[in-house]
Amino acid sequence: MTATEWKAAPRNWTTTLMFALTFLAALVLVPWYGFGHGYSGAAWMWFALVLCANELAITCGYHRLFAHGTYEAHPALRLVYLLFGGMALQNSALIWSAGHRIHHRYIDDPQRDPYCARRGFWFSHIGWMLRNYPSGEPDLGTVRDLQQDPLVMWQHRHYLAVALGMNFGLPLLLGWASGDVLGTLLLAGLLRLVVSHHLTFCINSLAHIIGTQPYTDENTARDNAAVALLTFGEGYHNFHHMFAHDYRNGVRWWQWDPSKWFIGAMHGLGLASNLKSVPWFRIQRAILETQFKRAERELEHQPDRPKIARLRQRVAEEYAAFQAAITAWTQAREQWLDTTRRAMADRWERSILQSRLKELERGLRLQNRRMRVLRAQLG
Ligand SMILES: [Zn+2]
Ligand SMILES: [Zn+2]
Repeated sequence: MTATEWKAAPRNWTTTLMFALTFLAALVLVPWYGFGHGYSGAAWMWFALVLCANELAITCGYHRLFAHGTYEAHPALRLVYLLFGGMALQNSALIWSAGHRIHHRYIDDPQRDPYCARRGFWFSHIGWMLRNYPSGEPDLGTVRDLQQDPLVMWQHRHYLAVALGMNFGLPLLLGWASGDVLGTLLLAGLLRLVVSHHLTFCINSLAHIIGTQPYTDENTARDNAAVALLTFGEGYHNFHHMFAHDYRNGVRWWQWDPSKWFIGAMHGLGLASNLKSVPWFRIQRAILETQFKRAERELEHQPDRPKIARLRQRVAEEYAAFQAAITAWTQAREQWLDTTRRAMADRWERSILQSRLKELERGLRLQNRRMRVLRAQLG
């Protein structure tokens, strides 16, 4: 499809009007009422709480649970996700997940990735929803598993009722309870909706445009702490596109990922189970592989000087050591899984294997550090 054909795609008036009118209304009405009457503390509190509930329902629910199946959730938690996810007005969990699975499968393909970042900031942020592009057509063949989930199907069938009920009913109820109906409608209803939209949209736009690529540079996805701050942890998007079945996006304990903490807390309460995470070694392997690829690319363009030849030699040596470590680790892990499978109560054998795995992991971490030093010499 060419650029002119993209422009010729028919406009989706429902989404265009919804985004434009809510945005304009928030821009005008919220300050107008604020200067004229002022807002109660309760209205601001409901704004913050409902915003958090919307965002977590999208990140922990729509994204990490329904689209990627990174854990299992109790029906009560799934229902909460579906109610507050519906409130975020981003379509039903079924349609959302169908589009998102296609985004992962065909990432950066302008013909097939529904919010392809290569088509520019505006398109990946919001433009993809304003016209009926062929790339945005949801393929329900990708969500057969979700079609078996009665709660997901219930929300899909009654999406409009859920969306309207939650967007008007909940703020009205909260406003009535706290004695500031109009203020709560404007803040927890209107402003919250617009802010929530654009925070989520930053994942498709900014998280594919600015940031680092530690785990893979084969796609546009980026890791960005500032975007993670805005998106409840989804800004660690380079990791996510590499390891989409991990329930975490910010994989290090200190990385700002409230969604992973929320899922962890739900696990603690017995409402989430079977949390999937990638073995640490595979993560390190991805980092090192990306480093080697970059080092090779950088060395290719260097003139043939003795210093460069030495560096080339060292990178080659490190690469050989890396391959040997991967082989050793895979073997040790196989053995470990084998003893577990045979349920061998030989604690001695298992502890030896475990310390061998630990030692290999430490080796890989050191190699990672050496590679960073080497690449610094190249730059
Ligand atoms: Zn993405
Ligand atoms: Zn994803």
